[in-house]
Amino acid sequence: MSHEKTRAAAFPVDRNDAELIRGAHPPHWRNPDPTGPYNLVVIGAGPAGLTAAREAASLGAKVALIERSLIGGVCINVGCIPSKAVIRTARLYADMRDAGNFGGDTPKHVRVDFQRAMTRMRQIRQRISRADSAESLASGGIDLYFGEARFSGPDSILAAGQTLHFRKALVATGAHARLPTIPGLTEAGYLSNETMFDLAECPRRLLVIGGGQLGCEMAQAFCLFGANVILAQRDPMFLPGEERDAAQILSDALAREGVEVRLNTEVVAVRTVGGKKLADLVRDEETTTISVDEIVTGIGRSPNVDGLDLENAGVVYDANGVKVDDYLRTTNPRIYAAGDVCLEHKFTHTAEATARIVVRNALFFGRGKLSELVVPWCTYTDPEIAHVGLYPTEARQNGVPVKTYTVLMHDVARALTDGEEEGFVKIHVREGSDRILGATVVAAHAGEMINAVSLAIRSGMGLHALADVIHPFPMQAQGIKMAADAYRRTRLTSFWKQLAGRWLAWSRR
Ligand SMILES: Cc1cc2nc3c(=O)[nH]c(=O)nc-3n(C[C@H](O)[C@H](O)[C@H](O)COP(=O)(O)OP(=O)(O)OC[C@H]3O[C@@H](n4cnc5c(N)ncnc54)[C@H](O)[C@@H]3O)c2cc1C
Repeated sequence: MSHEKTRAAAFPVDRNDAELIRGAHPPHWRNPDPTGPYNLVVIGAGPAGLTAAREAASLGAKVALIERSLIGGVCINVGCIPSKAVIRTARLYADMRDAGNFGGDTPKHVRVDFQRAMTRMRQIRQRISRADSAESLASGGIDLYFGEARFSGPDSILAAGQTLHFRKALVATGAHARLPTIPGLTEAGYLSNETMFDLAECPRRLLVIGGGQLGCEMAQAFCLFGANVILAQRDPMFLPGEERDAAQILSDALAREGVEVRLNTEVVAVRTVGGKKLADLVRDEETTTISVDEIVTGIGRSPNVDGLDLENAGVVYDANGVKVDDYLRTTNPRIYAAGDVCLEHKFTHTAEATARIVVRNALFFGRGKLSELVVPWCTYTDPEIAHVGLYPTEARQNGVPVKTYTVLMHDVARALTDGEEEGFVKIHVREGSDRILGATVVAAHAGEMINAVSLAIRSGMGLHALADVIHPFPMQAQGIKMAADAYRRTRLTSFWKQLAGRWLAWSRR
């Protein structure tokens, strides 16, 4: 049984968690008695399931929502929210140590209070989870069931001993941390996102396995809390998939802050000696052994498909999750899927966006398509790395010629005033046009900045139009406008330049 399934039992760590459970899985909750078929039965109350259930119910559908653990899913309980809250406090400590660079005095003793940081995280998590408490869902007209759901037929689901019949169903069961197959790791013990936010003390020495988003975010945060962090990544770069120079800036930032960066490195064995975890790391056939207090794994996420008896409903799935078509319909036309259980890009915003498509397609003859979504994403390190649309390599593979407009953040006034000048804005257009193919932003507020480009792509605006947008001055998003200005300057052809020059010469007479 995965830890995630048992979280309701594993909590509470403190009174914030106790409060959270009262809202997200009330101990004495009485499941409703099902009456007649539902328009929509949703399995999983994470971002995808909650969005679908709320939206369908608000449109008058008879909706059931089944959750085996805590309402809010990974995002609120063991994902986005706790990680971002912890990162914020870690940054505070980084800023304190950096006070000298801002004309301030660095405090003599920056004492890290890890427990207070974790308490703050729990307070925030509890506050955010209130919005989707069991009570509020029920009062929103949703039949909420707690229990493990599984399909008993093509139009029925079994949950907590009751059979729920449906016209349409949504599988929104999310994903769980993938465990690396490293001999000795399970015996030695490890942390994943499902357990690391329960830590009472900051480990002195920490090995993070995996240099994807989770690994990089957590390695940086724990390093800023004062842990001695070793980040091991099998690939030659962090954030595989991102543009190389973006990943390089992150790699340099991590190293500068004190993370021991081990690229091209595989963790091949773990064992415990005298209370310490010893890990064997191999690079270029050379083995080194390190001793750490804790090991965090962040090598990816696997869809939650086990135990759903999808075979009973004729729903096809594999190791990548439930198979869906572009309309998010599974191989059973009554059943749809949304979120991490079926998507390659496992994010809260994609979970919510796909859930909205499902409600329209499943209940109202909609024809919303997954392929039409414009999906940005962001890695919340310092600097942040955000991306939307195509990467230049993808475009070229599809035979699309690419022209890139680049602005370095050290040329953006606000980045300088704020001492956040690392990074760049890169906007890729189809060569010979202003059609935006994609963009990567590496900056302190890249996640906010990328939204202008997402909006432009979504609404079919070209880069030319972004040059017309007036920004309050000074803003870091000016980097986007500067890239658009660079494009516009290329449109000033020599013919128009000559004409303008002649006109101005004439008007001086
Ligand atoms: C550490 C970490 C940080 C993250 N940070 C970000 C971020 O900053 N931004 C971002 O966009 N994304 C982030 N993510 C990803 C984000 O959390 C997920 O993409 C999102 O939660 C997916 O939503 P979902 O509804 O598809 O699934 P989940 O949130 O996984 O919810 C699925 C729900 O289904 C329930 N369930 C599963 N099986 C059954 C069953 N058989 N019966 C009943 N219930 C069941 C589960 O208990 C769970 O509550 C992060 C993830 C992690 C791990």
